Amino acid sequence: MTLRLSTEVLTLHTRHPFVIARGSQTEYRTLMVKITDSDGVEGWGEAAATRFYGETLDTAAAALATYGPLLGDDPFQLESIELCLETTLQRNAAARVAISAALHDLVAKRLGLPLWQYWGLDRARAPRSTFTIGIDTPEMTRRKVTEAADYPILKVKLGSTDDLAILRTMREATDRELRVDANCGWTAAHAVHMLPVLEEFGVTVLEQPVAPGDLDGLEHVRRHARIPVIADESCVTSADIPRLAGRVDGINIKLAKCGSLREALRMIAIARAHQMTVMVGCMIESSLGITAAAHLTPLVDIVDLDGAALLRDDPFSGATIPQGQVTLPDGPGLGVVRR
Ligand code: MG
Repeated sequence: MTLRLSTEVLTLHTRHPFVIARGSQTEYRTLMVKITDSDGVEGWGEAAATRFYGETLDTAAAALATYGPLLGDDPFQLESIELCLETTLQRNAAARVAISAALHDLVAKRLGLPLWQYWGLDRARAPRSTFTIGIDTPEMTRRKVTEAADYPILKVKLGSTDDLAILRTMREATDRELRVDANCGWTAAHAVHMLPVLEEFGVTVLEQPVAPGDLDGLEHVRRHARIPVIADESCVTSADIPRLAGRVDGINIKLAKCGSLREALRMIAIARAHQMTVMVGCMIESSLGITAAAHLTPLVDIVDLDGAALLRDDPFSGATIPQGQVTLPDGPGLGVVRR
């Protein structure tokens, strides 16, 4: 009997409006994907579509309707199935990764193993996750820093006109480690101008200072920087890594960009071959999507998997980040259950 795919819309709300250089949002809708085999075993995944990468809830649903009938009857054929999906309908990474996660969940459940164990990983090796403070007023920034008291590493969103005030507010509120994500909000010249400021405030990592296509800009910033410069929006799949090598210190892998857990593993291997730092990040998504990404964390250097921790109505429990420590579940497959 063929594998059956069904979907369910998840409506998620962040505790605070989440503001980055591109805009603000409180309600997020994602798709839960369920794949059921002939014995009734279910695998689950989540599609967190974002307009920035050309997807919406509707395009993801349409893509999943196209992909569903192509799954065949053997979930263990992970490479063949993923290749078939990608060659039938390109892009649609958030939709494809929901299937990829669901198939990995299903296969590892059939084997009775947590996915991290099936992959041969030591879950104790996962680095601590950052917790993100979105762009806000000084008063709200202070409140968010207090609310995030449990997290030893904070990530600050910059790229607004108030960058200096935000950094000053953050530093006055806490002496914890700070990392910065400009989300493409700066020019290379402005980023270089900001570097000594970041240094003054003790920032340890700079993510995506300039526009995605501005690779020369990235290289220029990195040449002047004494902290690691990480490409996020400039690095979507493994094919982007060779041209980023030598221009940035590392890459940020997100499942909703690369479209597959297997592609994420390939990206880690290719980045390592270029001696690059590897980060794993996320969208605003529930613990279902976050847990799929969390299974990669024993293989990476920098973790930013706070997407579900920012929610006030997460429908699932799975991997968690208490005190920033990524905690992978014991259950088989992804180890995600409904709350
Ligand atoms: Mg980023």
